[in-house]
Amino acid sequence: MPHDVINPATEQVVATVALCDVEDTDAAIARAVRAQRSWRALAPAERGRLLRRFAAAVDADIETLARLEVSNSGHTIGNARGEASNVRDVLEYYAAAPDRLFGKQIPVADGVNITFQEPLGVVGVIVPWNFPMPIAAWGFAPALAAGNAVVLKPAELTPLTAIRLGELALRAGLPEGLLQVLPGRGSVVGERFVTHPDVRKVVFTGSTAVGQRIMAGCASQVKRVTLELGGKSANIVFGDADLERAAATAPHGVFDNAGQDCCARSRILVQRNVYDRFMELLEPAVRGVVVGDPSDALTEMGPLISAQHRAKVAGYVPDGAPVAFRGDAPTGDGFWFPPTVLATGLTDPAFTEEIFGPVVAVVPFDDEADAVRIANDTEYGLSGSIWTRDVARALRVSRAVEAGNLSVNSHSSVRYNTPFGGFKQSGLGRELGPDALDAFTETKNVFIPTSEGA
Ligand code: NAP
Ligand code: MG
Repeated sequence: MPHDVINPATEQVVATVALCDVEDTDAAIARAVRAQRSWRALAPAERGRLLRRFAAAVDADIETLARLEVSNSGHTIGNARGEASNVRDVLEYYAAAPDRLFGKQIPVADGVNITFQEPLGVVGVIVPWNFPMPIAAWGFAPALAAGNAVVLKPAELTPLTAIRLGELALRAGLPEGLLQVLPGRGSVVGERFVTHPDVRKVVFTGSTAVGQRIMAGCASQVKRVTLELGGKSANIVFGDADLERAAATAPHGVFDNAGQDCCARSRILVQRNVYDRFMELLEPAVRGVVVGDPSDALTEMGPLISAQHRAKVAGYVPDGAPVAFRGDAPTGDGFWFPPTVLATGLTDPAFTEEIFGPVVAVVPFDDEADAVRIANDTEYGLSGSIWTRDVARALRVSRAVEAGNLSVNSHSSVRYNTPFGGFKQSGLGRELGPDALDAFTETKNVFIPTSEGA
């Protein structure tokens, strides 16, 4: 079934991609089962060497991958280059893992007890449209390094870079069938990853609603699952903070990737005694965000992913919405939406629901306890920022906010060498960093007696 892929900045068709059906998916899973058997039998150092070659192939292709992402997803060229580089970095990082997947030797009576980190088998990775390259790599790189095969479903809207990464893997010498990219519908290919018994784990990034459904589906086979879901993260600005820097960076913290970021700091909480001053400083920063042609190196924000998504985002800014100020966006073709700042109350849907667009809601708070209470008054818990010059407060609030990834006096993005994931309904499990390998292996315990008493 052919499917048109649209450039969200121009509304032009950039490619036509064939979508996989259930039979294609089953055939791919069968190939993956075979490929995984030979992959796990390869010497660990050889697996590492092939992953390094894959990383080198990505490195040599960064410009092509980045241009492809600009035309498919409307990401700014600077961001897209960073995303392609991130794939290389994640592959390099996990290329060191195959011959360092240590087990333990545990002291027991009458024998030797050792553990092995065994691969799961075939892992299904389901990727959303907001960061097609990095999110794919955060799944496939550690999964492959741990000895698994991967079937990967990109989002229907954004399959092009994933398809290219699959080609680069083959070109780099990864065995046929080890990493297969299967464009298709979530309800078809994604659903089949959940129901097929040979897929032993599903890694899903996307909406909380679909994540809940996947978790429920996996339960019937006790299938392993990692979920990275939505967010409504707080950017907490205390009265003692460097207000100039807090205001200058707040737009980047929420409008990067046009706000289509699960870590977007889409709620700004400002201490009441500096609220007016902060808003005065924020206004020029927001008006200054350069929105336009994503292939232009000076552009800071591109379009939204689709007309449907723009309509959803626009629904949070109805006539009469409490708009404090807005930036500019192009008119004409493309799914444009201007950076928008709302001065809301605590129960406004724009303050409580994930918008996934360039809309931020600002509210005042009274003291530290009030800030923590408001920050935690959400079902989400993915990320957040804390602005203060008081080190003790920075640590206290970091410990008190129920979220997986916090940054102090910055809006740190995801680092491949540190764990990433959410509290509460923002997810289950952690990706990246040294521990991600645990999520792609089973611990096996073996006892060997050394005396008759055992
Ligand atoms: P979504 O429906 O959760 O899609 C994410 C991925 O899951 C896509 O590859 C999708 O395939 C697939 N999928 C959909 N239904 C499935 C099913 N029943 N079984 C297995 N896989 C399935 O997200 P969306 O509709 O694109 O976006 C909706 C909202 O989700 C956004 O507005 C945002 O709030 C949130 N979101 C969060 C993140 C994040 O990073 N946490 C990412 C994207 C979206 P198709 O492409 O074919 O639908
Ligand atoms: Mg959906």
